[in-house]
Amino acid sequence: MCAAPTPTPHPGDESLPAVALTLLQSSGLIVGIFDGNDILRFANPAFVSAYHLRPDGHSTWADLMRDNHLRQRGTAVETQDFEAWLASARSRRGKQPYRAFESNNHDGRWIWMTETTLDNGWMLCVACDITALNEDGRSLRQTRDQALRAAQTDPLTGISNRTHMTLQLDQLLAQGQSFALVLLDLDHFKRINDQYGHPAGDEVIRDFARHLQASTRRGDGCGRVGGEEFMLLLPGVDAAQAQSIVQRLLQTVRHAHPLPLDAPELSYSASAGLALCQPQEDAARLYHRADCALYRAKEAGRDRLVCDDGLQP
Ligand code: GH3
Ligand code: MG
Ligand code: MG
Repeated sequence: MCAAPTPTPHPGDESLPAVALTLLQSSGLIVGIFDGNDILRFANPAFVSAYHLRPDGHSTWADLMRDNHLRQRGTAVETQDFEAWLASARSRRGKQPYRAFESNNHDGRWIWMTETTLDNGWMLCVACDITALNEDGRSLRQTRDQALRAAQTDPLTGISNRTHMTLQLDQLLAQGQSFALVLLDLDHFKRINDQYGHPAGDEVIRDFARHLQASTRRGDGCGRVGGEEFMLLLPGVDAAQAQSIVQRLLQTVRHAHPLPLDAPELSYSASAGLALCQPQEDAARLYHRADCALYRAKEAGRDRLVCDDGLQP
């Protein structure tokens, strides 16, 4: 159809346009040119093969896509409503001078498609087969994402680890918004380990982490920062709100019976130290104030919250 006849350059008579056309025809690159009405005006053999062009005249890009979708070939479009997909894709197509994206074909090939659009609407489409690259890239991306997640996650409880909490704390300080930092430590945990065994102790740690997370809003941070030590970051709360959140958590935990332990008599509690960040305060000082408050909670008999008033130097 729109594939131009292959010119045969003679030695010594090779004009640049003729050579360029020969190269385009021979290339494994998929090359197509659409006019301002999105009618396909040129397609090299790789394009004809990838998009199964029929030899019956020009077609629009939309016709091409529709035809391929009906026959389940060419670009794989996963949608229940093809026309809606088409409308959406057209609203993005050719709206900027250049764009590039990955797409996959029904034959299993992955394609890196580029679109270059002139002011007059003509568009050059050049695509290459990246199936092999994509396999590697995808698994690499997945591995990287998994590694990033693992680096910030506590493996026992699945909540944030110390690294991630430190990051969130630094972010909150950098943003300059007010927030509360709470440190929590399970009470007499050595006894639980001694009496019920280390695996049971692990279950109690998991149980506490579940209650801790359940007490948070989406914007809050909570994590396990030590053996049976946890941190809570509560942005945008005042002292009363922060205290109420923590008191409710301690109350819940007091009556918790960690599952799946077969020990209905096992109960546990936690102590907490709270500090509201002050203007210009750094992470170390804020953490120290919360830690001192936690220490005072332990000293005062455990199973309670102590708030630092911020008055001590
Ligand atoms: P306190 O009320 O003063 O906090 O008393 P405690 O017994 O809880 O004392 P402390 O916080 O100093 O001790 C924590 C214990 O937690 C020590 C350690 O054996 C235990 N532990 C630390 N990490 C883990 C863990 O991952 N699993 C279990 N089962 N135990 C842990
Ligand atoms: Mg403890
Ligand atoms: Mg401890």
